[in-house]
Amino acid sequence: MLTDSFGRLHTYLRISLTERCNLRCHYCMPDEGVKLTPSPLLLSQNEIVRLANLFVSSGVDKIRLTGGEPTIRKDIEDICLQLSNLKGLKTLAMTTNGITLAKRLPKFKECGLNLLNISLDTLVPAKFEFLTRRKGHGRVMESINAAIDLGYNPVKVNCVVMRGFNDNEICDFVELSREKPINVRFIEFMPFDGNVWNVKKLVPYKDMLETVVNQFKNVNRLQDHPTDTAKNFRIEGYCGTVSFITSMTEHFCAGCNRLRLLADGNFKVCLFGPSEVSLRDPIRSGAGDDELKEIIGAAVKKKKAAHAGMFDIAKTTNRPMIHIGG
Ligand code: SF4
Repeated sequence: MLTDSFGRLHTYLRISLTERCNLRCHYCMPDEGVKLTPSPLLLSQNEIVRLANLFVSSGVDKIRLTGGEPTIRKDIEDICLQLSNLKGLKTLAMTTNGITLAKRLPKFKECGLNLLNISLDTLVPAKFEFLTRRKGHGRVMESINAAIDLGYNPVKVNCVVMRGFNDNEICDFVELSREKPINVRFIEFMPFDGNVWNVKKLVPYKDMLETVVNQFKNVNRLQDHPTDTAKNFRIEGYCGTVSFITSMTEHFCAGCNRLRLLADGNFKVCLFGPSEVSLRDPIRSGAGDDELKEIIGAAVKKKKAAHAGMFDIAKTTNRPMIHIGG
């Protein structure tokens, strides 16, 4: 059910728990905000766990919780606990903006969360406030340190690089990996609905790497896993690592193993493919597991070989990133 027509086996499910967020990042949330799905139409905890169970019993061994901002969801601890108990699941991950994470992380860890990505696009508090339209830079830094103290290794720090905004901070971010087990992940700026993407703001992987290689000695490429989205490097003597997510200039669709379940119950087989199918509606009309597996399998079979390229993506109606969770 989870192998597509190109032979790609999907073992990684990203579940968006909410469409809400406590930040308003320009590249994620459209200026005018987004229309939120009414609560009764969002997946309930039981529905999420039931669907996750179906996926895990079909071969998924990694689930990542996203949003919006997943920590906003009130029952997130219960969800973590139930998901981490699914037989066959090896990794329960979360991507978070870290705003409310520091105090809650011990509990999340107890509930089985074993991999953490924290988004941080600038090391300058004033720029953080400009980009996110909120305060909170200090709290995100606190969360990164709390995660390190709790033994998350590596703590992944996601940084979307935008020309003229934070491309002059690339080396400062790399420095974070000198003493700490941080994996700094530079992400190429991608087009989503309403995020005013412009190719001029995109800093290509090659340019980012050149900046790093020009500044640091002995930048060594690490062996990547075939399904890795990242090209990984370690600077000799550094505790952490540096990665580049090159979705736009060198896509990694050939090794794609990712599927997405959105907060409203729509199932999406490709981040940049607009096609979606509802799993919520059949569940609520009484569909059994076999019927759900058929719907999922049919959608996976229709998955395209690769995304359409950044210029076509920019012209295609998809969803804002806040709805998809990256
Ligand atoms: S663009 Fe689609 S096919 Fe390519 S890596 Fe992303 S989700 Fe997979």
